[in-house]
Amino acid sequence: MIQNKIIKMLELPSYILRGNILLIGCEEKGVYNPRQSHCEYCPDSQSCRWLKDVDAASDLSQFNYDELVEHFEFAMDKMIVQARMLEHNIFTCTCEMCEWIQDALQLYEKTSTQQ
Ligand SMILES: [Zn+2]
Repeated sequence: MIQNKIIKMLELPSYILRGNILLIGCEEKGVYNPRQSHCEYCPDSQSCRWLKDVDAASDLSQFNYDELVEHFEFAMDKMIVQARMLEHNIFTCTCEMCEWIQDALQLYEKTSTQQ
């Protein structure tokens, strides 16, 4: 089932994102807090919010299909930005991150024909 593949695919980006969040000056220690004004203007809060969402459902199968695809899109965006920043060629590079992106793009194509 495609949902299970997406869930499996979210593991690497959530691991990488967690490592990328700048915790310097973060009063919430990287845990998104909607009541905290700091989170409103923090450039990393989008990632924190995503990680919180993904964590909250330790069983990701709680998400419906559309939500899952949304989380997947977010993860792809972040991974591509990361690869570009490190100047990897996402189409030819064979590192873990770029291979993830290549797999993700293929899987994503299937999600758009799924419905
Ligand atoms: Zn690479």
